[in-house]
Order: sequence, then structure tokens, then C-alpha cells
Amino acid sequence: MDFNLNEEHRMLQGIVREFVEKEVAPRARHVDETGEFPWDTLRAMGKLGFLGLNVPEQYGGAGADALSAALLLEEIGRGCGSTGLIVAAHLGLACGPLALFGAEAQKKRWLVPMAQGQILGCLGLTEAGAGCDLRGIRTTAVRDGDGWRIDGSKMWLTNGAEAGLAILLCRTGDGFSHFLIPTDAPGVGFGPPEQKMGLHGSHTYAVSLDDVRVPGENLLGVEGRGLAQTLQVLDGGRVGIASLSLGLAQAAYAAARTYARTRQTFGHALNEHQAIAFMLADMVTEIEAARWLVYRAATLRDQGRPYTKEAAIAKLFTTEMAERVARNAIQIHGGYGYSQEYPVERIYRDARLMTIGEGTSEMQRLVIARHVA
Ligand SMILES: Cc1cc2nc3c(=O)[nH]c(=O)nc-3n(C[C@H](O)[C@H](O)[C@H](O)COP(=O)(O)OP(=O)(O)OC[C@H]3O[C@@H](n4cnc5c(N)ncnc54)[C@H](O)[C@@H]3O)c2cc1C
Repeated sequence: MDFNLNEEHRMLQGIVREFVEKEVAPRARHVDETGEFPWDTLRAMGKLGFLGLNVPEQYGGAGADALSAALLLEEIGRGCGSTGLIVAAHLGLACGPLALFGAEAQKKRWLVPMAQGQILGCLGLTEAGAGCDLRGIRTTAVRDGDGWRIDGSKMWLTNGAEAGLAILLCRTGDGFSHFLIPTDAPGVGFGPPEQKMGLHGSHTYAVSLDDVRVPGENLLGVEGRGLAQTLQVLDGGRVGIASLSLGLAQAAYAAARTYARTRQTFGHALNEHQAIAFMLADMVTEIEAARWLVYRAATLRDQGRPYTKEAAIAKLFTTEMAERVARNAIQIHGGYGYSQEYPVERIYRDARLMTIGEGTSEMQRLVIARHVA
């Protein structure tokens, strides 16, 4: 087993790291404080091909593999959680299902502009009464001549109103199906962005669907197979969220390490106190363990092997690890860690979502248990 990244992966990692250090990280505090959607950064990422990194070249993407996408999100996560979540949702939840289940015409119409960064995408699964248990979905799609009529509402759409396309999971008779809904279609109404604990630059919306009409060709994949398709999409999305969390953890660790080397107490730098040095050692150990879980899940996907369990393990461990690391990074900063003057409180707030979105930790344990118990 080769534990080294190949030349191509290292090159990509270097390019993204440089971009993030110059363009993303310096704006993270502003994005968090103002809630400004980072359009400029995203446009620049679109030009660099990041917004279609693992989309096949024939559909406007860079044709890179899943490990490359993981590296991209890890690096962005080191700079800004909000920007990372926008990109993770666009790539994993919107480009992902189109690449997996889209018909040729759907890919040309929607995947190409999304991969080229001209429009963002989003995925709407969750509703007020349906989160972990998607069988509670009430939004319906009913046949209407050659097309479909969609009525209902969705919650928590990452990128919602900023996206050009929403992929929605709707009830179709006894089953569920995905539909491609242009966000400017008559009858689609977004609420204001939700007021959240963190990830302020990544906007999250409720959307209502009132007599929305779409043509028959907007059904994505197979009618009635929406839940199975969703599980497949979430496998990939979970590796994305784990990668982002890996980046957040590294940012928290780096801030804690720098602080521990400069702050003096009892005549010594903090990192000379064993309790603090051990905290840093634990952080590095957990980050390293998580990295290999994430890379393994991505690599299995690239090899075309089953990776559902491995994606769940990577997400469960890495997201919970990121929260622990960010928590301890605050602890190492003492009172200053609780202040907005230092980045660790923002990283902590951003990391907190990761154990909830794209399948809670409890759902990951359920998936893993199904494979092992
Ligand atoms: C910032 C943010 C962005 C989001 N982005 C999107 C998005 O882009 N698209 C989208 O569709 N959704 C999105 N979501 C929604 C998210 O995926 C859901 O919040 C999540 O799936 C949990 O659903 P729920 O909130 O309804 O919790 P519930 O399903 O009500 O669960 C509540 C709690 O009970 C636990 N629980 C539930 N069932 C069980 C069980 N059987 N055993 C043990 N524990 C259980 C859960 O793990 C959780 O801790 C987003 C949410 C947030 C906060």
C-alpha cells in the first residue's frame, strides 16, 4: 500500500494551498462576521477549474479523481469553513448526482455550466418533518401531461438561493424521485438565509414549491429510485464533509500550536507544560488517523470498489475529531480562544455542523453497524 500522494495529487495540493492562503484564508473572518457570500472567491475558483474538479472533462470538468476532490476540500477547509461547505455542496450534492444519474442532455444542459463555475448547484432532501428519516418527505411530484407538477417545501438547502439549479427529492406515488428544478422557475420561493451558529458565509435556505411545473426530462435518474440514489450521492458527499473537517482541524491545530509557542505562563511557553504539549500531540495523532480514513474512502471510490462503510467511518471519525480539536484549540488559547480576535472560536462553530449535515453521527453509526453488527 502506497501512503504517498502521487506527483499529480501533490501538484494539485500545492496549487490549492497557495490559492487558499492568498485568497480564501485572509477573508474568512470577514465572511464570518458579515455573512457575505464569497462570490469573488468562487468566481476565481471557477476559473481555476475547482468547481468541476472531479467532473469528467467531456462535461466541462477537470476530470480529476475523488482523492483530488478530497484534497481540494481539505485545503479549502484549512482556510474557510463557509467557502468549503459551499464548494462541498456544489461538487458532492449537485454535480455528484448529475454525473451519476444524469442523461446526456441533462449533463450538457446543467453539469457543464456547473462544472465551469457559471452556476452553483444545491440538493434538497430535508424537510421540516424529514431529516434522518427521509421517508417522511411530503413534497410531491405528480404527473401533469408530459411533465411534472411539484408542491411542498424543503429546508436547509446549502447554496439554495445562490444556486441556478436545485435537485429535489420528491414523493412520486409510493416511491421517491429526484427532479431538476431551475431556481428561477415560477412557484419556487426561497426564504431569507437561516441564522446559524457558524458557517455564516454559506447560506442555508428553506424553499417553498407552489405548483412548480417542470418538463418530463427533468426527472433525474430512475423514477421511484430516489432513496437509493440519495444514499449513493451521500457516500461521496460524506467523504467531502470529512475532507473539509480534516482541513478545519488542521487550521485549529496550527493556531493552537502557534499560540502555545508564544504565550508564557509560570515562566515557560505554554507548549513546555506537559498538559498542553499532550493536547497538541493528541490533535496531531487524531488528524493523522483521520487523514488516512478520508484518503482511503476516496481511493476506494476511485478504484470502483464499495466504500459506503469506509465513507461513513471517515465522516464519523473526522467530523467528531475536528470538533474535539477545535474545542481543545480554544482551551489552549484560554480566554482569548473565546474571543473573535482569534480564529479558533469560528473554526469551532464551523466544525460543529459537520457532525450533523449529510448524515448525523448517529446515522453514520447506523450505516457502519449495518455492515459489522
Ligand atoms: C447548516 C446546514 C446545512 C444543511 N444543508 C443541507 C442541504 O444542503 N440539503 C439538505 O437536504 N439538507 C441539509 N441540511 C439538513 C441536514 O442534513 C439535517 O439537519 C440532518 O440530516 C438531520 O436531520 P434533522 O435535522 O431533521 O434531524 P432529525 O432527523 O430530527 O434527528 C434529530 C436527532 O436525532 C437523531 N436520530 C434520528 N433518528 C435516529 C435513530 N434512528 N437512532 C439514533 N438517533 C437518531 C439524529 O442523529 C439527530 O441527532 C443542512 C443542515 C444544516 C444545519
